[in-house]
Amino acid sequence: MSATLTRDLSVTQTRALKLPGVARTFEPLARQARDAHWPHEEYLHEVLSAEQASRHESVIRHRLREARFPEVKPLETFDFAAAEGVNATQIHTLARGEWITTPENLILAGPIGTGKTHLALALGLEATKQKRRVLFVRAADLVRQLIEARDARELGRLQRRLLTLDLLIVDELGFVPFDRTGGELLFNLISDRYERRATAVTTNLAFAEWVTVFAGDEKLTTALLDRLAHHATVITTKGKSYRMRRRRGQG
Ligand code: ADP
Ligand code: MG
Repeated sequence: MSATLTRDLSVTQTRALKLPGVARTFEPLARQARDAHWPHEEYLHEVLSAEQASRHESVIRHRLREARFPEVKPLETFDFAAAEGVNATQIHTLARGEWITTPENLILAGPIGTGKTHLALALGLEATKQKRRVLFVRAADLVRQLIEARDARELGRLQRRLLTLDLLIVDELGFVPFDRTGGELLFNLISDRYERRATAVTTNLAFAEWVTVFAGDEKLTTALLDRLAHHATVITTKGKSYRMRRRRGQG
């Protein structure tokens, strides 16, 4: 067989077998192998390693897309010195993701602009790097999606899909109050995830104020908080808005 024919057949085979890592590397690695007189086994090993790395990357890329982060905020961009109430060691421990495996919950509470969403995004990003299934969603959007799914008789499907997530990040609980139905749908979701899947919530409210979001329903709010906070790390951010402080610092 001519070298060109072998090459073309190999390219076709990598497509048929879905081996993009092999497709990209088999020729440059073959040149390297010839130049450095690698044994055949070593060449095979290098090609397979390239395929493995390529698959690893592709799962992570997929997880990142699925997570629907509005912005990518890596943990390295978080300034711990400027964050009151946030312990760097604790955050770096959370970044390892063991709490997601357990699973436990995470509540980030504090005033506006104190880095709650930034931390949630950063921890979510770390989780996708560990190939975990993550979804980031604003509380108001999540409740709207639940109500729409219920109206379309697709609630069961959405609930099952949400339950496959290793980590659900609910951002900005408390910005928009829910009506009774919305509150109940969110409650059901939190109950379903209880002790099965990890949930993270960011909120500007103190626990005592949560009832205002759930149409004044004390019983529902207590039951929800009970499940959410039972196995949970609670981080309370404090102080002035980071952006405002920066502006002042510059001006
Ligand atoms: P919150 O969700 O608590 O209202 P955000 O996380 O949205 O606040 O923070 C507001 C803005 O300030 C964002 O752009 C965020 O990246 C930035 N920010 C807040 N705290 C920090 C911090 N400690 N280090 C770096 N950026 C921060
Ligand atoms: Mg926020």
